[in-house]
Amino acid sequence: MIRAPMARPLEDPLDVGQCASQRVDLVREFAVGKFERLRDSVSRPEGQAAVSLHFHVAGGYPAAEGSVSGSVWLVCQRCLAEFEARLASPVRIAFVDDEAGAATVPEDYEAVMVDAGRLMLADLVEDEMLLALPLVPMHATPAECGAKREVEAVVAAPTVEKGPVQRPFAALQDLLKR
Ligand SMILES: [Zn+2]
Repeated sequence: MIRAPMARPLEDPLDVGQCASQRVDLVREFAVGKFERLRDSVSRPEGQAAVSLHFHVAGGYPAAEGSVSGSVWLVCQRCLAEFEARLASPVRIAFVDDEAGAATVPEDYEAVMVDAGRLMLADLVEDEMLLALPLVPMHATPAECGAKREVEAVVAAPTVEKGPVQRPFAALQDLLKR
C-alpha cells in the first residue's frame, strides 16, 4: 500500500501558514555551537538556545508568539573573566512576504520577512539570540564579578600584619660601635 506523504509542518523550513492555521505549539532546542554568526560573538561554542512558539493568525497574517532563551559564554568587560550569561527574548512576530506587508501587520507585532511562507526556525532563533546579547557583557551582580574582589583585596592589603623588617646591617652597625 502506498501512502501519500504526510504533511510535516514542524520540519525546517516551517510552513508558517500551515502552522498558523493549525495553531501549532512548538518547542525546539539548538546548540549554540551550530550557529555560525552567534559563535563569533561568544567566548565558547557552548550552551543551548531554546525556542517556544505558539502559532496563530494575527491581522490576517501567520504569526507566532513566545520566547527564545538560552545560555552563552561571554567575557565580562569589568573583570575580563568568562561567565555564563542567560539570555531571554520575548517574541511576537507576524510573517510577511514583502515590505508592503511589513507596514500593515498588527501594531504590537514585529514583521519578519519569509520567502514563500517558509521559515528557517534556526535562523530566527539565532537572530533573536544575537539581539538579546548585552551591548557590554558584565557579571549580573558585583558579588559575582572578579573586579570587585580585586578592589577588596587592595583595600584589605594595608591591614595585613607585616613581620619584622629584616635589616641585615643593623647587627653590623652594632659591632662597629664597639
Ligand atoms: Zn565581572
